[in-house]
Amino acid sequence: MLNYKFLLLDADGTFLNFALTEKIALDLLFDHYNLTHDEETFSSYEEGNRLCWREFEQGIISMDELKVKRFSLFFAKEGLHFDPSEANRLYVHYLASNGHYISGAEDVLKRLSHDYTLEVITNGIASVQRGRLDALGASKYFDHIIISEEIGCQKPSAAFFEKTLEIIHAAKDECLIIGDSLTSDIKGGIESGIDTCYLHLGKDPGISDTRIKYHASSYSELLSIIYADQVDIENK
Ligand SMILES: [Mg+2]
Repeated sequence: MLNYKFLLLDADGTFLNFALTEKIALDLLFDHYNLTHDEETFSSYEEGNRLCWREFEQGIISMDELKVKRFSLFFAKEGLHFDPSEANRLYVHYLASNGHYISGAEDVLKRLSHDYTLEVITNGIASVQRGRLDALGASKYFDHIIISEEIGCQKPSAAFFEKTLEIIHAAKDECLIIGDSLTSDIKGGIESGIDTCYLHLGKDPGISDTRIKYHASSYSELLSIIYADQVDIENK
């Protein structure tokens, strides 16, 4: 078993299926505004949303700005004149009430929470992250749920990881970060001197970086890395 005390898990794309939550919430939102549900409309929203999250990670815009800007960009592109703040309120409400695990994730959390102290480290919107974790009954697997919006700094900033260690009372070498984002989880871990495990479930891993300590492309691979010694024993 890997010699860490704390596993710091990102939420979306790591154990929560944000793609599904987002699809359901956008469907509800598009219904509300009577918009067509075609690929083009979805990707028109996605494009602006991605840009906003990138700007947020880089510290260019705040979370409050992100929430509204993604809908002003979308409405402007589509030539619509709805209120972006109102759209955000509705959307966040739809997101928060639609939590979904990535297939197989709950078994992994159960197993890991038996042997390690699990912490959520997420850049999401507080009400959305807490709403979904509670709706799923996932909060019980975690000692703390650390959300950028609540602590005032975000991954990959060093401040985010410093505050996290302070909150959970841990030393860097007691922690392993597990996440699916090279630009927030992995970059933040490397720059803060915390070991990282890059979890790229069924997606192209992208650029490889020798400073990443572990790579896993599936949950079974993740478990076999964490419990490597036990797999060896079982195979003898
Ligand atoms: Mg993620």
